[in-house]
Amino acid sequence: MFHRILIANRGEIALRILRACKDLGIESVAVYSEADKDSLHLRYADETICIGPAASSESYLNIPRLIAAAEIGDVEAIHPGYGFLSENEHFAEVCHSCNIKFIGPSATAIAQCGDKVAAKRLAKEAGVPCVPGSDGPVENEQDALAVAHRIGFPVLIKAASGGGGRGMRVAHNDPSLVTGYHSARSEAEKAFKDSTVYIEKYIEKPRHVEIQIMADQHGNVVHLGERDCSLQRRHQKLVEESPCPVLDEATRLAMGEAAIRLAKMANYTSAGTVEFLLDKDKNFYFIEINSRIQVEHPVTESVTETDLIREMILVAAGEKLSFRQEDIRMRGHAMEFRINAEDPDQNFKPCPGTIKTFVAPAGPGVRWDSHIYQGYTVPPHYDSMVGKLIIHRPTRKQCIEVARRALQELTTDGITTTAGLFLRILEHSDFAAGQVDTGFIDRYFAPR
Ligand code: ADP
Repeated sequence: MFHRILIANRGEIALRILRACKDLGIESVAVYSEADKDSLHLRYADETICIGPAASSESYLNIPRLIAAAEIGDVEAIHPGYGFLSENEHFAEVCHSCNIKFIGPSATAIAQCGDKVAAKRLAKEAGVPCVPGSDGPVENEQDALAVAHRIGFPVLIKAASGGGGRGMRVAHNDPSLVTGYHSARSEAEKAFKDSTVYIEKYIEKPRHVEIQIMADQHGNVVHLGERDCSLQRRHQKLVEESPCPVLDEATRLAMGEAAIRLAKMANYTSAGTVEFLLDKDKNFYFIEINSRIQVEHPVTESVTETDLIREMILVAAGEKLSFRQEDIRMRGHAMEFRINAEDPDQNFKPCPGTIKTFVAPAGPGVRWDSHIYQGYTVPPHYDSMVGKLIIHRPTRKQCIEVARRALQELTTDGITTTAGLFLRILEHSDFAAGQVDTGFIDRYFAPR
């Protein structure tokens, strides 16, 4: 087992990884930017190393500085968390060549998942249903039009290296396809330094349902059920739950098996997520694989009684998975609410600032994963998520009741958050009935 791990991240996930290390008796080295010197997890780490100024490119995304910190800290492994370098195959490779274990999949698997066109090809090979679309990149306007006419409008133009909903455009006709094609390409070029785009049929009012997988280095792959992440704003998740309120056992089984086939095909190890869209007739279509731990992993941890970060560390050290497929049972219902320092009434404008009064929610079935505390200043340089409220109760109805109470208890005076929006969503009859799709929030709570 490892003795010392470097945590190459910040915020709540850095604290989450640190906790898993402590529980396993592993020492941790925390890195931080100058803007994060008051980060909570630094107080609990065995060693802390400043890796540069606030800008991510100078700190959390700077590979030479992270490797230097790993050498100074004398660690055997690095956990990348999510975001930043977690899906950067080059970083995984550099770690490997420096004899530091990257806690995640191999560089080859990351590369294959990171290229959505390649991942889709692999999914087809594995017999996993995919959204109809272009078989590969679309090179010009004529190609784009030909694909759209073949599969029929509406279509979605997507970036091959995309993430976070960027580089995506819906088109309903020829003119909007041509405009969307060019704007998606330039957005993708700016965001990912890769202008490659492809086209998919735009599925109307789908649910986003994803399967959590976990794989060790001995060929064992297990799936841990699904998460429904249909509550999104502009293709960015805000609320996730498990189980999916409308999924029947047969479809769940088929999706789980599809995810495992794909993971085996990719020689996948560590934690990963296979994302699907579910249409109104309960057909599911693969959209992408995320080769990292995800923000919403606690929802799965709650219903399956597992610790996915701990499991990632153990399998990275060469151990076998601590559970078999038949050990995984989903119990009760879990929901996660992403508490972002944003003002929903001002077009979700980020609201960094100092938290004057802070009270964390608690009580039966309440988990609060967050790095904030009273007096903490949310820096303006990074993602606006300041905490995750996770509720786990025997039924979905009780989950909603406890969520309402916990959201009311949460006090973060000094910054505006998405908590108020969630209270309004909980009152909506469609949400209570579990009848939502990926456009639900944009339609009722965040019209453009
Ligand atoms: P990203 O990596 O940028 O998050 P994804 O491929 O995971 O992109 O898609 C993000 C979201 O975009 C999905 O959850 C869904 O809401 C929407 N989406 C993606 N593909 C389609 C599609 N073919 N039809 C309808 N919506 C889609």
